[in-house]
Amino acid sequence: DADLTVDVAVVGAGPAGLMAARTLQSRGLDVVVLEARDRVGGRTWSREIDGAFLEIGGQWVSPDQTELLGLLEELGMQTFPRYREGASVYLDAEGTRYEYTGDMFPAGEQTEAEMRRIIAALDDLAAEIGPHQPWAHPRARELDTITFTEWLRAQSDDAAARENIGIFLAGGMLTKPAHAFSALQAVLMAASAGGFSHLVDEDFILDRRVVGGMQSVSEALADRLIPGTVHLDSPVRRITRSAGDSEGAVLVSDTVTVVARKVILAVPPNLYSRISFDPPLPWLQQQMHQHQSMGLVIKVHAVYETPFWREKGLSGTGFGAAELCQEVYDNTNYGDTRGTLVGFVSDESADEMLRLAPEERRRLILESLARYLGEEALSPSVYFESDFASEEWTRGAYASSYSLGGLHRYGADQSTPVGPIHWACSDLAAEGYQHVDGALRQGRETAETVAGLLSS
Ligand code: FAD
Repeated sequence: DADLTVDVAVVGAGPAGLMAARTLQSRGLDVVVLEARDRVGGRTWSREIDGAFLEIGGQWVSPDQTELLGLLEELGMQTFPRYREGASVYLDAEGTRYEYTGDMFPAGEQTEAEMRRIIAALDDLAAEIGPHQPWAHPRARELDTITFTEWLRAQSDDAAARENIGIFLAGGMLTKPAHAFSALQAVLMAASAGGFSHLVDEDFILDRRVVGGMQSVSEALADRLIPGTVHLDSPVRRITRSAGDSEGAVLVSDTVTVVARKVILAVPPNLYSRISFDPPLPWLQQQMHQHQSMGLVIKVHAVYETPFWREKGLSGTGFGAAELCQEVYDNTNYGDTRGTLVGFVSDESADEMLRLAPEERRRLILESLARYLGEEALSPSVYFESDFASEEWTRGAYASSYSLGGLHRYGADQSTPVGPIHWACSDLAAEGYQHVDGALRQGRETAETVAGLLSS
C-alpha cells in the first residue's frame, strides 16, 4: 500500500536531488524527496567540532561554476575569497622546501618548461574534446585505453614534471592513482573546469567559499520546497516498475512507500546497486555501473589559535607530489580570528593512513603539514579528518569516475533513462563534473527533461 502518490520521486537530497525537486515544483509538479541520511546535503556537510566550524565535504566555488554562482545569488547567499597573500611552498621529490610566488612550482628551469608543455598539451586536448561527449571524439578509444601515467610518460622524460602535473588530476581531483584511470578521463576532468590551466591555478579552482558553508546551499534549497517534501532517514531499498513502461514505479524506503510516475535517482553511480530493481536493470546498466567507482581522499582539518603561517609571509598554500599531504591550503573561516589549515591525503596514501591507529595517522599527517609551514603545525587546538569512505551513503570521496576504458565504452549511455528512471548526479555532469556546480546542473536539466515528458 502506497503512503504517497506523486508525479516524481527524487532519491537523494544532495545538491542534485534538491535542485531537481525545486525545478519540478516550480513547474507545478508533485514531488517527494527520499533521503537515506538524517540530513540534507549529501557530500556537502558542515559541523561544529570542538568549537570549530568545519566543512567536512565540498566547499570551494570557482568562477566558471555559473550554475552554483547564479543559485547563490538567487538565494541571497554570500561568498568569501580564500586567503592567498604571501608565498606558497613547494616540496620537491627529495623533500627540499622552496617558497615561491606566481603560478609555477620552482622546480628548475628544465622541469618548469616541461610542465608548461604538458599543461599546454592537456589544455589543447580539453579544448578539442570538451566535457559533453568525450566518448564521441574520434580519439576517445585511443585515449581511454591508456592510463594517465602512460600518457604522461609519452609526453615527457622528466619524472618531476610528470609527477607535478599528475597530482592535479590524480590525487587532487579524481583521487585515484594515475595508473587507475585513463587519459580520456583526465581530459574530461580538465574540460569540465574550462581547461587544465584552471586546475593548476588554485586561485581559480579554489577561489571562494560560501559564508555559512556549502551544505547551507542544500539546506536553503530544502527550506524553499513545499513543507513535507523531503523525507529524511528514508533510504530507498527497492524500485519496482512495470517492465517496458516509461511511466510508473513504486519505491519502498525505510519510512514511506511512494507511487510515482517518474523517478530521478540523484545518488552517485557507485550506490545504484544498493537498490533492488524489479525487474532488474538491463545488462547495459548492470555492467556499466560496475565500472563506476569512488575515489578516496581524506580531508584533514587543523585549527590553530592564530593563522601562524601568515605572520611568516606564507599563504598557507603548499604542494608536494611526493608528500603525504600533496596539497595544503589556508581554510580559515569567514570572520574567524583562529587559523584553519586543510590538507588532503589521497588514494594509496589514504589506504596506508586509514590502516593505522588514529593517533599515529594524526602524527604523520601533522608532520606533513609542518614540513610545509613549520613546527607550529604540529599542535592544533582542533584536529579532524573527513572520512567519507566510511559513510554508508557515499563510500569514498570526492566522486565516482570510470575505471580504465569505461568512459568511451559506456559514457554515451550513462544518462539514458531506464523506463521511468532518470539519473542525475555531479558524477555524470559535463561542466562542473564531480563538483556541486555539476550536481546542480544535472538536477535542473534532468528535472526539465522529466517535466517535459510528463507534460507531453
Ligand atoms: P551527493 O552529494 O552524494 O548526494 C546524494 C544523496 O543521495 C546523499 O545525500 C545520499 O545520502 C543519498 N542517497 C544515496 N543512496 C540513497 C538511497 N538508496 N536512498 C535515499 N537516498 C540515498 N565539490 C565542489 O564543488 N567543491 C569542493 O571543494 C568539493 N570538495 C569536496 C570534498 C569532499 C571531502 C567531498 C566528499 C566532496 C567534495 N566535492 C566538492 C564534491 C561535491 O560535494 C559533490 O560533487 C556533490 O555533493 C554531489 O552532489 P550530488 O547531489 O550529485 O550527490
